[in-house]
Amino acid sequence: MGFEYLPVKRADISHLISGETTSDNKPGPVSSADRVAEQAIDYYSNKEIALDDLRKEIGDCHRCKLSKGRKNIVFGEGKADADIMFIGEGPGRDEDIQARPFVGEAGKLLTNLILKLGLRREDVYIANIVKCRPPNNRNPEEDEINTCSHFVERQIAIINPKVIVCLGKISAQTLLRSKNTISKLRGNFFSYKDIPVMPTFHPAYLLRNPKDKWLTWEDMQKVLNKLK
Ligand code: URA
Repeated sequence: MGFEYLPVKRADISHLISGETTSDNKPGPVSSADRVAEQAIDYYSNKEIALDDLRKEIGDCHRCKLSKGRKNIVFGEGKADADIMFIGEGPGRDEDIQARPFVGEAGKLLTNLILKLGLRREDVYIANIVKCRPPNNRNPEEDEINTCSHFVERQIAIINPKVIVCLGKISAQTLLRSKNTISKLRGNFFSYKDIPVMPTFHPAYLLRNPKDKWLTWEDMQKVLNKLK
């Protein structure tokens, strides 16, 4: 039917695995069918592997015109089981070179914000709406967003974070299917497939408008409260 796998929890199908013991008296599966079942559980319940599979599926993507100018695909990085997922709009110059999200000047601001929240970059997951750099850092266009955004949606489905933080207008408008400005959206929780979403200013905007940093700080306090 088009499904490649069904995510299962070990506990839900533990009855499929034999409780018999092996020759050294350790509990373990005895038949090859059991072994296959065990491997399947380990394989498909692992978020990291599901993310790796998604990255492989994207491959050397040429699904949209952004592929023509990019150096690297910026898939996303962080903890596969993160509570907080940050979603930006698309890679810039530094990200395109390093194939990592938010590593330029805006990225330094985001990293500092994460540290001030008492977290490390490795504790969260960071991704973008489009995975390739738009030329001259222009906004991604509608056809590019439509072609790429289902990949970030699948990253969300795999990670299943407790809160999503949308960084900037493109991210918030895409995920929330809204046409409202970021000034209107920010500071309020919305919902994406039952996951709370907090839109806030993009770090690049905050670099240009440092006086508004406190507003993003307020938004992030709401995110921390939501996680309590
Ligand atoms: N801006 C974004 O939206 N994403 C990045 O990865 C870097 C800058």
